[in-house]
Amino acid sequence: MCGVLGILGDVSLANARQMLLLLTHRGQDASGLLWVDDDKYSVAKAMGSPDQIELPHVKTSTVLGSTRYPTTGRPVVSKDYLRTFVGPFSAENLAMTHNGNITNLHSLSEGEYDCDSEFMCERLNHYLKIHDNDLVKAIRCLDKDLDGAYSIAGVHDGNLFAFRDPKGFKPLAFGRGNGRVIVASESTVLEMGGVSLERDIYPGELMIFSSDTKMESYAICQNKAHSHCFFEYVYFAHPAAILEGNLVYDTRFRLGRALARKFKQMQLEQPDYVVPVPDTSRPAAQALAEELDVPMREIILKNRYLGRTFILRSQKERDNTAKGKYIYLREKVRGKNILVIDDSIVRGTTAKMIISDLHQMGASKVYFAVTCPPQSHPCYYGIDIATDKELIASELDIDAIARHIGADALIYQDATALENAIGLTDMCTACLDGEYPTEHARLIRRSLAEKGGSDTGRDYERAFQ
Ligand code: 5GP
Ligand code: MG
Repeated sequence: MCGVLGILGDVSLANARQMLLLLTHRGQDASGLLWVDDDKYSVAKAMGSPDQIELPHVKTSTVLGSTRYPTTGRPVVSKDYLRTFVGPFSAENLAMTHNGNITNLHSLSEGEYDCDSEFMCERLNHYLKIHDNDLVKAIRCLDKDLDGAYSIAGVHDGNLFAFRDPKGFKPLAFGRGNGRVIVASESTVLEMGGVSLERDIYPGELMIFSSDTKMESYAICQNKAHSHCFFEYVYFAHPAAILEGNLVYDTRFRLGRALARKFKQMQLEQPDYVVPVPDTSRPAAQALAEELDVPMREIILKNRYLGRTFILRSQKERDNTAKGKYIYLREKVRGKNILVIDDSIVRGTTAKMIISDLHQMGASKVYFAVTCPPQSHPCYYGIDIATDKELIASELDIDAIARHIGADALIYQDATALENAIGLTDMCTACLDGEYPTEHARLIRRSLAEKGGSDTGRDYERAFQ
């Protein structure tokens, strides 16, 4: 994941930081802003969300921003990591940041780089030198090298540019107006910046915007086989974002409706309440409740002031932190049949804990519905589930998962229903079915199969030739 932002046109840094805040949900590990000041790049980075970035009171006309979700490299546990792992990066008159994950970074950089964004910036600068500062040619070369997901926002020679990998895994949109151009991972940022969404950057498209808001578009690679990440719709994106013309809220609502149909087919006892695990599954819970004619009650509330549980590396740490993550309306639970809905089950930590808590509070039955089908394969493109071992569905079938988490019934979304709810047929579903859309990812899978499975660490952070 990660969020990227690019602004061309007069803006205060405080205003740019506000826009970047709208991408905090895409990565709260660390954040950074880069701006042009006296023809030089200045940068400020902070651990955590963009409101932690300390900025001078400066107006500028060019900004890049980045919120980081850690995939390649390490989580930012101290300020010493900011320079190495957090974008935006610059090299001479180029600056850039990206969202997505490069699967072949290790082979390309011979293990020398821990951060894919920094590597890409240096590599692109290298190609600019070879090609007489021609950005289009340099991007073409970079694109040939890379395997994976990369939605890039950058600045070169006073222009803002945006490039989306040929598969279009990760979102990237732009808008113009009032002398400003904004490029961002999600459309909500454009609104806040006072421009309206013009369209998504096409997969394989490079767009270059000059300071008079003129734009040029180049088809770097015309690959018709796109691979949009379906998990953007299920989990990552803000419900108010419009991705590929779809309002994410509506998609999640449809995911809930599909689960209601499945629930009815299973002929279980009628629940007393539908209860969302906050926050992502709320729209789906509303639809599920409406379709089943059962009230939705927010019995599980989030402790907003707790850190992030997902990226913690040890299971013990995750279990401990998960315990303080939710606060329950326990008075409403006793004697009730409760249908809980969440967006996904990864390791099963959250589901297991919630179900056990609700049983302890006296629930009669706890059913668990999931808007995403079983994720049984690692993601190499930007979700931090980078080995088979992190996924309960890679080892257990649905009945065994239901037993493991203690659910009285487990209702997973079907893959076809997922496709219908999102309305795209050209999606990356590698984490569901193991069909990896890029060559290097397939090579990793083949090599792992020969070696007899994953080792410790992320699969793509090891050398595969
Ligand atoms: P589990 O507890 O099963 O390991 O993970 C499932 C929970 O993690 C769900 O509540 C889901 O919303 C959340 N989740 C899924 N993917 C991600 C992610 O990439 N980052 C974070 N922070 N949470 C995630
Ligand atoms: Mg969650």
